[in-house]
Amino acid sequence: MNSLKEKKALLKKLEGAYTTCFDCGREYGVYSVGCSSVRTGECDVCGKESRVTEARDFGYFSKQIRQLKKEIKDEAKLS
Ligand SMILES: [Zn+2]
Repeated sequence: MNSLKEKKALLKKLEGAYTTCFDCGREYGVYSVGCSSVRTGECDVCGKESRVTEARDFGYFSKQIRQLKKEIKDEAKLS
């Protein structure tokens, strides 16, 4: 996948993201609610202007965040 530096940057973004576009949401999270507040705005993850919704609607990317933290920890052990 990505380098350790990229993983750390992505982790920081995902943890701090309040809004997300649907592309990033589907890539890093799991869609979890039926009624989201979709609007046009800037995605906190990729920075693109798009149709965005709250990170909450994708479970705050918790699965991906857990995965990234594990990978970062494992790589830190190796180096
Ligand atoms: Zn995005």
